[in-house]
Amino acid sequence: MRKKIVAGNWKMNMTFEEGQKLTSEIVNMFQDEAIQDVTVVLNPPFPHIHPVKKLIGDVPGIYLGSQNCSDKESGAFTGEVSAKILASFGVQYVILGHSERREYFKESNELLEVKVKQALAHGLTPIFCCGESLEIRMAGTHESNVKFQLTQSLFSLSPEDFSKVVIAYEPIWAIGTGKTATSDQAQEMHLALRRHIATKYGKEIAGNTSILYGGSANPGNAKELFSKPDVDGGLIGGASLKSRDFIDIVK
Ligand code: PGA
Repeated sequence: MRKKIVAGNWKMNMTFEEGQKLTSEIVNMFQDEAIQDVTVVLNPPFPHIHPVKKLIGDVPGIYLGSQNCSDKESGAFTGEVSAKILASFGVQYVILGHSERREYFKESNELLEVKVKQALAHGLTPIFCCGESLEIRMAGTHESNVKFQLTQSLFSLSPEDFSKVVIAYEPIWAIGTGKTATSDQAQEMHLALRRHIATKYGKEIAGNTSILYGGSANPGNAKELFSKPDVDGGLIGGASLKSRDFIDIVK
């Protein structure tokens, strides 16, 4: 059975105080409202990692993730943070290949392949993002485009390693725009991705892979999106910065 996951991507938001408040509220609501059978992952900016970990403590069901990691193991790479360092701080997930990193930091499918391997080598679960631009969607090549992202960055993994990866489908035109993909558009792509995974790794692994949707998901549309058979949760940006909204999406 694949996991249902809701991951919050704080992006470059939240001061120390704000991050502490948000995390405490989320942890309290998650416990008070007795939420079960869902994995929640908080992905704050790097400086929050240690204090957020302390607030999460060992509450079952809530995990800590980061928004990136280096492709390098360790050494003279000023400003970088390795998977090894993150793991030593209790980080368990890492978002890789977000469209903002692909676009603004020129991260290629090849670089992401190396980052995914670094993450796995240190026991982190990659949340691997893929998704097409509006231009590609209009041209009708979105499916092949997104499948190619998976093939290039993930299909050199062993079946055992691939089984540890979480996929997040995030159409770029839906990120931070308020323009969500319809649940049918999400389902169509998620199914296409699952079938693509099956061609390489077989039906069982494909069936056990969690595929999250991301892009303007909010408490008003999450239920409909997550009701689709191949949508296993969400990667949430804007709405993860408000505890009530985030928890409502989780619920
Ligand atoms: P959004 O961002 O929910 O604000 O659209 C999602 C993401 O970029 O992960």
